[in-house]
Amino acid sequence: MFFPMNNNLTDIRYIRDLADRYHFQFSKSLGQNFLVRADILEKTIACCVPDACTGVLEIGPGIGTLTCALASCAGKVAAVEIDRSLLPILEETLGAMKNVSIIEADALKLDLDTFCITQLPFPRRIVCANLPYYITAQAVEKLLSAQLFESITLMLQYEAAKRICAIPGDPAYCALAAVVDFYAERRIAFTVPADCFYPQPGVGSALIHLKARPQLPADAHDTIRVIHAAFAQRRKTMANALANSGLCTRAFAEQALLASGFSKSVRAEQLSAQDFAHISIYLQENIKKENL
Ligand code: SAM
Repeated sequence: MFFPMNNNLTDIRYIRDLADRYHFQFSKSLGQNFLVRADILEKTIACCVPDACTGVLEIGPGIGTLTCALASCAGKVAAVEIDRSLLPILEETLGAMKNVSIIEADALKLDLDTFCITQLPFPRRIVCANLPYYITAQAVEKLLSAQLFESITLMLQYEAAKRICAIPGDPAYCALAAVVDFYAERRIAFTVPADCFYPQPGVGSALIHLKARPQLPADAHDTIRVIHAAFAQRRKTMANALANSGLCTRAFAEQALLASGFSKSVRAEQLSAQDFAHISIYLQENIKKENL
């Protein structure tokens, strides 16, 4: 259904043949585990629903499997690939698709504002990617903080997906979960066994869907600073963690916590993104008043 141009991309023999013909070596450090299951592609497309009005940013097209599926529904796919040795392969697999651009770059170094203006001038913009594990946290925070995308759909290692979707009180709850919750509604859409990839990774994966909140509850920069300061010392109380980070004095932090409805001894792992937003608003308003 999704492969009008090339329906071989999930066939392991075809992938091996491509690798042989182009002398391509799979790189573990670049997270090169390619999807080989058409049903997972279909479920991924059903999750992010690209249409003719949608511009899609894909990070890491690999040999173009997900790219091809996305491009058969979307207005355009702009796919950013760091590994130059994949470019001739992508020319073979996707060259005939006129609504695909392959950009050789490190996704973590992209200027997303410029990228979206030049590559994705569409009414609706989304991200969809099977992410290399080593860039998960940085990529997720970069994509969300840009506030340019209606949704972000990512295939991740299952443990990373669980951490990102954890709620306060879960052992897996962390700064990244709170940051993601601040910007977006989060959910694990489905899990993906290791045998859906070639070569097979050592662990399972999951697809997460992040739907951008149309309105943020507080200033993003201030709230994210509070979240990172609080989790930098997650075993300490929030008041101590904030004071040690230099954001404010301990007394002031305690005042902010009480005024926001929390006890002075509350810890970061008990607080939601909404709670961090309230504390951040209090700190900003009152620090401003003090400086008047
Ligand atoms: N999208 C393909 C698929 O689903 O089969 C490949 C996904 S593979 C897990 C990750 C891809 O990301 C690889 O092609 C790898 O070369 C690429 N990659 C790794 N680090 C990157 C980075 N910093 N920027 C852009 N691409 C990167």
